[in-house]
Amino acid sequence: MASKLEEFISLVDVHEFGEKYSKNIDNERYFGFPLDSIIEAERKLRSAENKSIAYISMEYGLATSFYNTFKSSDGVGEKNRVINHQIFSNMRIEDYLFDFQIDKILDLPIYSGGLGVLAGDTLKSAADLGIPLVAIGILWEKGYFKQNFWFKYGQVPEEMNWDPHNYPGLIPLKNIIKIKFKKDTVHLRLWKYYVFSHDKKNVIPLILLDSNIEENSEEIKRLTDQLYKSSDNWTKIMQRSILGIGAIKTLDELGYKVDRYHLNEGHAAMAFVEKAKELDGKQLSNLRKKFIYTCHTPVSAGHDRFTTKDFEKILPTPEFSFLDKFGREDGNGLINLTLLLLSNCEKINSVSKKHRYVTHSQFPQFKDKITSITNGVHIHTWLSDNILELFDKYNNTLGDYRKDPLVLKNILALKNDEKFRKDLWIAHQKNKKRLADIFSHWHIKENIFTVCWAKRMAQYKRPSLILHDPQRLLSIAKNAGQLQIIIAGKAHPADSLAGTYIDDMMNTIDELSSEFKNLRIIMLENYDIFFGKLLTSCVDVWLNNPLPPFEASGTSGMKAILNGVVQLTTLDGWVVEANNKQMGEIFGYHHNQGDPIGSESDLRLKEDSEKLYDSLERLVSLYYQTYNDGNINFNSQWIDLMINCIAESHYFNSHRMVKEYQEKMWQA
Ligand SMILES: *Cc1c(COP(=O)(O)O)cnc(C)c1O
Repeated sequence: MASKLEEFISLVDVHEFGEKYSKNIDNERYFGFPLDSIIEAERKLRSAENKSIAYISMEYGLATSFYNTFKSSDGVGEKNRVINHQIFSNMRIEDYLFDFQIDKILDLPIYSGGLGVLAGDTLKSAADLGIPLVAIGILWEKGYFKQNFWFKYGQVPEEMNWDPHNYPGLIPLKNIIKIKFKKDTVHLRLWKYYVFSHDKKNVIPLILLDSNIEENSEEIKRLTDQLYKSSDNWTKIMQRSILGIGAIKTLDELGYKVDRYHLNEGHAAMAFVEKAKELDGKQLSNLRKKFIYTCHTPVSAGHDRFTTKDFEKILPTPEFSFLDKFGREDGNGLINLTLLLLSNCEKINSVSKKHRYVTHSQFPQFKDKITSITNGVHIHTWLSDNILELFDKYNNTLGDYRKDPLVLKNILALKNDEKFRKDLWIAHQKNKKRLADIFSHWHIKENIFTVCWAKRMAQYKRPSLILHDPQRLLSIAKNAGQLQIIIAGKAHPADSLAGTYIDDMMNTIDELSSEFKNLRIIMLENYDIFFGKLLTSCVDVWLNNPLPPFEASGTSGMKAILNGVVQLTTLDGWVVEANNKQMGEIFGYHHNQGDPIGSESDLRLKEDSEKLYDSLERLVSLYYQTYNDGNINFNSQWIDLMINCIAESHYFNSHRMVKEYQEKMWQA
């Protein structure tokens, strides 16, 4: 009888197994995790009995630094560790910037922001629910980019160099696939990573495509180096073709029997073209039933459009003709990948209810087939240890949130339980103490009101809104109580407008350096998933101020409510569905259903910042009525807000979201 290891190798043909990986993969264990679960998942995906799903996405944020972290006998090499971050602040005792030391494994650097994190959370919940699914993406050999602050003059992007060959849990396969383009042939090495369920019984294989191999020319090798490289259209089209066409070829190469194809955002559109290019009539209409397309943005930069000429130069005739037939916009010579998918996929969803009506007004001709499935976050990834302990302590009332987060709404039954209110506050203070310890050099204190804005620096998200009127901010800090503000986020290197926000913010922060006692502002370099978790769980208030209606969903606020962090937000994305739930303050411009979409660059900074300051002032006052000089008022309304937040996470989680995909899109 074959050993388990032999069976594993027969299913997963690891490149250089003996030399490199046999130390970490044996009869029982795969980098410390059960090999059995992997073998079972690999077998299942090759059997035609299951309706398996292929999930295709440009990016995945898997939180590998703190969730289901694989162990390697070789440890973690220098290139795969993060050892310091810089911080820019208005604390000007010695210098502008300080390093602080932190030693952690780099999160698998194949994501840029919320879209990738959502894809990662989707895989984890699909694993938790035992759904037969295989995921395909790209091995970004240089990640997205590393953000460096340069003195006080903004962001300088730097190439990120990590080492996939020594990243725990990531293995190269012997399998290489080929894609023929009009001129070039691209060879892609397949890699594997495994996304385990919370109980480690189920696994989702994630296959990553890599063009950096010797079979390819230098130019082709560089195609999979940097996520969202925007140097030229050839690169963009090639990256999208590698993902889409590569995904279909990968499934054939590995013998996975797939019945549904889920395209996470239009980047993956070429997967449909690859399957459809030689079909017509009935075959084509059958294929359309198998494709699911999730559209993630109402912002125009989120929809890929290229000229017919660019496509024609690159793609062979069958692929090009298909695109030209189904993706061409009227009269402008452009091919639009969003349009291609809208007109072909039978199942399409937007990512919140509000996003659905925005999508309907952008694409009225497809109104009837666009439904909505609101995003969610993976509870086991984003729940902090201190709040987790609290849930366990009260599991008699709450029930088993690990099995189904729906039970979290039972927390409302504890609203009048004095002991619970006290325990909740104490749990939160423990989180905040952790934050204070990490940022002790900047005198961040656990008894001072702390608000955070952290996400991608995109214009419509209005990163600098809270700094719009420094004098007003200062007067709040002096009159209502001391303030700590934490800001973090990367701007896409080609987005010069977003880059200027960082410059402006640094300027403002610099000008406030004499006010450090009342108003501490720190700006954290190189925001990543590790800090995403730290900040969403350890501050008092989570700030979210996109310009409505341009935030499709947003997910960072969902991570915060799970941890009882009060919301200060505009009414957009997921928040619209929790409008009257009393989770904090909702402020600013309201976009009502039926209103014109408006312009992404009409940012309403003045009006909305005034509203922001009014709301902030109320929250600061309430905070210091709740907690002052170590005295806690357990009857305070603040604690009601925290409880309401946690209760809402019964809905805004990826367990509920994946179940909806399963019922409405994958099985239907
Ligand atoms: C959750 C998350 C995001 C998404 O934030 P939004 O507020 O939804 O835009 C971006 N980056 C990281 C690292 C995250 O963890």
